Amino acid sequence: MKEKLKSVSKATWMRIAIIVLSVLFLVATATTVFFVVKWHNNKNELSQLNGALSENSSMYDSKVSEYESYRAEKESEKQSYEEKLNSQSKEYQSKVDELNKKIDSLNKKLAAKTSTTRAPVAPQLPSQPLNPNNGVKTVYLTFDDGPSQYTSQILNILDSYGVKATFFVKNGGKYNYLMKDIVNRGHAIGLHTYSHDYKKIYSSDEAYLADLQKISDLVLQQTGVETKIMRFPGGGSNSVSKKHSKGIMTRMTRKVTEMGYAYFDWNCSNGDADGANTVAKQLSFCSNYPKSANTIIVLMHDTKPATMESLPKIIEYYHSQGMKFGVLTTSSPTIHHRVTN
Ligand SMILES: [Zn+2]
Repeated sequence: MKEKLKSVSKATWMRIAIIVLSVLFLVATATTVFFVVKWHNNKNELSQLNGALSENSSMYDSKVSEYESYRAEKESEKQSYEEKLNSQSKEYQSKVDELNKKIDSLNKKLAAKTSTTRAPVAPQLPSQPLNPNNGVKTVYLTFDDGPSQYTSQILNILDSYGVKATFFVKNGGKYNYLMKDIVNRGHAIGLHTYSHDYKKIYSSDEAYLADLQKISDLVLQQTGVETKIMRFPGGGSNSVSKKHSKGIMTRMTRKVTEMGYAYFDWNCSNGDADGANTVAKQLSFCSNYPKSANTIIVLMHDTKPATMESLPKIIEYYHSQGMKFGVLTTSSPTIHHRVTN
């Protein structure tokens, strides 16, 4: 029994061993096949990745070279712009230099011209009055409503004849600086109200006096002069004021005198406010002065281009009449119109 068991057991063990070995062999073979297949797959994948990688890398290389050439192109564009800019700025600079030279030479010419116009060189007036039997009359040239764009030229003409005049000013805005010029060049400055707006200034006594104070302050501020000569817009005889405030001219002509002002009307005019827009027309007006008067106050406006053109002939005309030119002061003989309101 023991023998049988032993032989059975031996055969069984042999079978078991064969089975185990077979199983092991199968497992080993399967494992080997599995790994071989996996390795093969990995290898394929790797080569695919390598392919993709080399493709990407060549794409990258081409992008880089593309970018490089783009950059080089832009660089050369930039250079050419810079060159262009440089040459243009040189060109502009030379143009600016040229213009500056022109401005300089024009300024020099202007300065030379201004000094010759301003200097009272060779007055064109005859040295002797032409009508010595006419008596000694004094003519006061007066200019209202400025300063304006024509005031400078009028001052130059007066200078060239060595003649002084009187300017009754209002607020001239950007020309107010000329008030100082009027005073510096030896002319008289007087007040003509700030606004020159009839409706406003003649609406009440208070409105008129406030406006008068305003122009007085402006003249003082511009010139340092506190002037006491003045002229009413429209003159002391104006009747326009009647529809704004009855009796205002009667009250104001008295009031300003009490305040220490000397107001001046006129007994002659160059007609520049009445359509006289040529030298001939203005001379005709100017010759219409009261022949028996010793004081001629001529109303003109330094806001009219025709007056600027006629002024040399007007000066020559009054000189030819044997008159002296005077400037108005508070002690000058007054010409007063009849007050009608
Ligand atoms: Zn006026």
